[in-house]
Amino acid sequence: MSHFDYRDSELCCEQVSLRALATVVGTPAYVYSKAALLEGLAGYHRAFRDVPHVVCYSVKANSNLGVMSVLAKAGAGADIVSGGELYRALRAGISPKKIIFSGVGKSRDEMREALKAEILMFNVESRSELRVLDEVALEMGVRAPIALRVNPDVDPQTHPYIATGLKTSKFGIPHDEALAAYEDAAKMRGLEVVGADMHIGSQLTKATPVADAVARVVALVKALRERAIEIRMIDIGGGLGIRYRDETPPTHEEYATVLLPALREAGVTVLLEPGRSIAGNAGILLTRVLYRKDTGAKKFVVIDAAMNDLIRPSLYGAFHDILPVDEAGRARARETVDVVGPICESGDFLAKDRELAHVEQDDLLALMSAGAYGFAMASNYNTRPRAAEVLVDGNRYTIVRRRETYEDLVAGETPL
Ligand SMILES: *Cc1c(COP(=O)(O)O)cnc(C)c1O
Repeated sequence: MSHFDYRDSELCCEQVSLRALATVVGTPAYVYSKAALLEGLAGYHRAFRDVPHVVCYSVKANSNLGVMSVLAKAGAGADIVSGGELYRALRAGISPKKIIFSGVGKSRDEMREALKAEILMFNVESRSELRVLDEVALEMGVRAPIALRVNPDVDPQTHPYIATGLKTSKFGIPHDEALAAYEDAAKMRGLEVVGADMHIGSQLTKATPVADAVARVVALVKALRERAIEIRMIDIGGGLGIRYRDETPPTHEEYATVLLPALREAGVTVLLEPGRSIAGNAGILLTRVLYRKDTGAKKFVVIDAAMNDLIRPSLYGAFHDILPVDEAGRARARETVDVVGPICESGDFLAKDRELAHVEQDDLLALMSAGAYGFAMASNYNTRPRAAEVLVDGNRYTIVRRRETYEDLVAGETPL
């Protein structure tokens, strides 16, 4: 069941009216459903219940402390890609023993912070990173638990900006170099080889590329065992897609069914790094129509949210469904419009050539499926305060991030 639905002719998040919320917190505002977040996480726990596993929520998808603490309380770990995300994960109450550190460019400082926190595992992405992590761990007198992120060279059949497992991608260690890199790592005294890692891309709508990649990683794990390098954990990455429009991504069960045979046989703890599939459809961006404008050639709907709030349409040509908060609006005549924000860039659009039921000035709209890579990618471009974030739980809500003020925007700057 969707947690964003019409009740008494008004679009609601769970039992809270978005119109009422707009009155209290203003617009634009991100609104998240706690129940939807928990369902996304529980889907993984259920599907992988027969194997030892940890769901390490990908913090970059939505790193709000309110969102993360809800997931932490439900048993989630975290997949982090920076020291900042480590800080957030710990502040949200995620156990360091469930934190894995991914990313191609970890600094020595970030390595030290993660070693100090005693995280579960580092996903190392190059041989130079192996050497640096070894040095840092030795300086601290500890051993860093590591996996190598193997680039399995499979085509995930997704948008090129979010495909990461191809040979031409900056991510991971090429599959054919992985054995040698593991043998190097096994000799380094500052490292302890514990896992193997992959992540082939995002918004995957088919499980087969993931299954192909898992098969390659499992074969590697077997080859490593023959060389007395014992792998206890396989991290299969994140990337499961969601429905933005008419996509039909695999369900958690379908995903697990395809992947589990090989993983079970490998006898490992399975680590997962889902982001979008937990947060994406658990959030919307609530916005108000400022103006309508007709240039003769085109009709524009100018809203108070912009590419600084939600960059996915501008960056990837992504589709976000747009619903009127007032259900009566759905019955109005349809027309083709561009939905644009106030930012001074032609690339500032939330929808292009979209057929929508006619909207009027001051109407409230919901940009759907905005819970992942929405606020997390927001900026202050055009000196726009970032939107408020609200977490709904049943008939109650909490402002989990207040709207930024102008003062926030200049904090840390020095006029001369
Ligand atoms: C972005 C990312 C994820 C999460 O991807 P989703 O598509 O949001 O599930 C997981 N692992 C790594 C290494 C990533 O970079």
